[in-house]
Amino acid sequence: MLEAKKFESIKELNGISERTMTEHYKLYEGYVKKFNEIWEKLQNTEILESANQIYSDFRALKVEMTFALSGVKNHEIYFGHLGGNGGEPSGKLAEQIKKDMGSFEEWKKYFKATGMSGRGWAWLVYDHQLKRLFDIVGDAQNTYVNWNSTPLVALDVYEHAYFIDYGVKRADYIDAFFNNLDWEVIEAQFEKIVS
Ligand code: FE
Repeated sequence: MLEAKKFESIKELNGISERTMTEHYKLYEGYVKKFNEIWEKLQNTEILESANQIYSDFRALKVEMTFALSGVKNHEIYFGHLGGNGGEPSGKLAEQIKKDMGSFEEWKKYFKATGMSGRGWAWLVYDHQLKRLFDIVGDAQNTYVNWNSTPLVALDVYEHAYFIDYGVKRADYIDAFFNNLDWEVIEAQFEKIVS
């Protein structure tokens, strides 16, 4: 059902090695593959009879479907907005960050702290209902997500994203992440969702 996309960022980046990016991409392909496997199993109506809240194959598939699909989406944002030269956003997104977070520098401090606090992810999301940005901490592919929000920035803080290059120095990896962001990609997504 899903197919793994190709990304130009799977190469040597500024402070993130080709090895890290290549191995990381293989994990993304794993999420795509597992989502397809789960989806196929869910099409078999015989599985409906097993439905049970304590344990059932149906329940396990329903739970892990969100884990696998979020794993696909998170990594597509991640790889899609890396490969740039860092810097700052401009236009509507810059205005929104200033309005909701005080300034870009202020946001960076909070977002870095969010990344240091996550066991898996940190996201900058736009909440369509409250019409504002939030930094969200994620402990898994599918945790602490609020309804009606679109992720704009996705920072992978699982060890596989940085251990080869930085060992336990996650903060240095987060700095490298900022240095490789392509704000044009993020701005284009923001324009699309608010227009
Ligand atoms: Fe990852």
